[in-house]
Amino acid sequence: MEKMIAERAFGLLTIDLDDTLWPCAPAIQRAEARLYAWLEQVAPRLTAACDPEAMRRHRRALMVNRPEIAHDLTAVRRHSLRGLLAAHGYEIALADDAVALFLEHRNWVEPYADVLPALRALGAGYRLASVTNGNADIARTPLRGLFGYSLTAADVGARKPAPHLFLSALRWGRVSPERALHLGDDPYRDVAAARCLGMEAIWINRGGAPWPDELDPPTVEVADLGQFRHWLEERHRAL
Ligand SMILES: [Mg+2]
Repeated sequence: MEKMIAERAFGLLTIDLDDTLWPCAPAIQRAEARLYAWLEQVAPRLTAACDPEAMRRHRRALMVNRPEIAHDLTAVRRHSLRGLLAAHGYEIALADDAVALFLEHRNWVEPYADVLPALRALGAGYRLASVTNGNADIARTPLRGLFGYSLTAADVGARKPAPHLFLSALRWGRVSPERALHLGDDPYRDVAAARCLGMEAIWINRGGAPWPDELDPPTVEVADLGQFRHWLEERHRAL
């Protein structure tokens, strides 16, 4: 048994969340719709002046003007709401309730069908760490308990492709980059970023997108976690 573990090619798998394990857009859209409906009740002067698109523009401008918090999407949303609430004569403390409501629905994600069985199987043989630029809280999603370690960009102060999330996961897993593998859907923020550190990187391409011409191809491209698992097993057998 010990020998088998020692011979595994990878001592740590790091895995992206949004659009890797669940579709991101439906969760965000639902959360924003619930938040907006709530604001219509408690802050009608704000919603009379700002439609959801105007609120999005306000957040984007804030990310440009406050680069020191741009990696922390929850902080961006909270500061944006405070500014808008104050501008329309409301208590800024309402922003905290608004953010809590948003996050409750933002964490209401629906993993792709291949995810739960694959993660359960992978967790039996590998250390698993989730690394996300987003603000999903894995403990509040259907994937709670499946990762040994879960990190967001807000936790480490920087978004991928910056190395912070990967380096923190490597420290947790106590493995060198060569013995770690990252799986993610973004060619730049996931695949190229992990490869920069010497990790192997797998591209999960659920939508059949073309790989960007200017990047070296990933180690392998998979369509779902079932294919990823299969590839890992083959790789293990080839040792
Ligand atoms: Mg992603």
